[in-house]
Amino acid sequence: MRKMIAVFGGTFDPVHFGHLRVALELKEQLALDRLHLLPCHHPPHRAAPETESAHRLAMVKLAVAGDAALWVDDRELKQQGPSYTVKTLESLREEIGKDSALCLAMGADAFLAIDSWHRWQEILDLAHIVVMTRPGWQMPGADLTASGTSSVASDLLKTHGVANVEQLRQQAAGNILPMEVTALEISATQIRRLIATGHSARFLLPDAVLQYIRQHKLYTPVDC
Ligand code: ATP
Repeated sequence: MRKMIAVFGGTFDPVHFGHLRVALELKEQLALDRLHLLPCHHPPHRAAPETESAHRLAMVKLAVAGDAALWVDDRELKQQGPSYTVKTLESLREEIGKDSALCLAMGADAFLAIDSWHRWQEILDLAHIVVMTRPGWQMPGADLTASGTSSVASDLLKTHGVANVEQLRQQAAGNILPMEVTALEISATQIRRLIATGHSARFLLPDAVLQYIRQHKLYTPVDC
């Protein structure tokens, strides 16, 4: 059977059970050989001060320790400044060869804005896209195509969409699979806020990560 690898990126500042649950569901539902958790640089427009990459990386490593199929991939952090997804996929593709399937996992919101991504037309030449959706999600505008209203994302879904994992695996790249995942009501913003205001973030993220945060005094105002 063709090998299949997926990549799931985020700032992971810090990594939490929302991310980890999704990672596990991707791994199981897609029967992946490997899932790469890819900490990214903070987007330039972000208001909050950046947590050092080394800390974000260390926390992801602690969170997935013991699961051999969940890999922590530091290739974007090794580079200065934000990297383009298409470049990361090129680098992964070079590493895994042309026959293995490569999947890029992204949220439905990100997928709807795909045509704003750098060299987006090349993404499907390099990888499949797995669009992570919430239960009941429907492609906006999907029912409006008859009236001529459309978007790049819904057009892509029409031309490249597949209905199941078996179809996805038939090629090394080029398909789009919408996949329902559990979206826990947890965000890194909420965790940073709780810690900054002296509240507990326990049960929102792994204890080992929380311990790391305490040890390194992350997310706590410097003068408190
Ligand atoms: P922040 O609150 O700092 O914006 P975040 O918690 O949203 O961070 P990111 O690192 O920005 O986390 O997210 C990386 C990826 O994980 C994104 O694709 C995002 O859609 C997904 N994600 C984040 N939180 C959840 C969650 N609770 N459940 C499912 N997916 C999530």
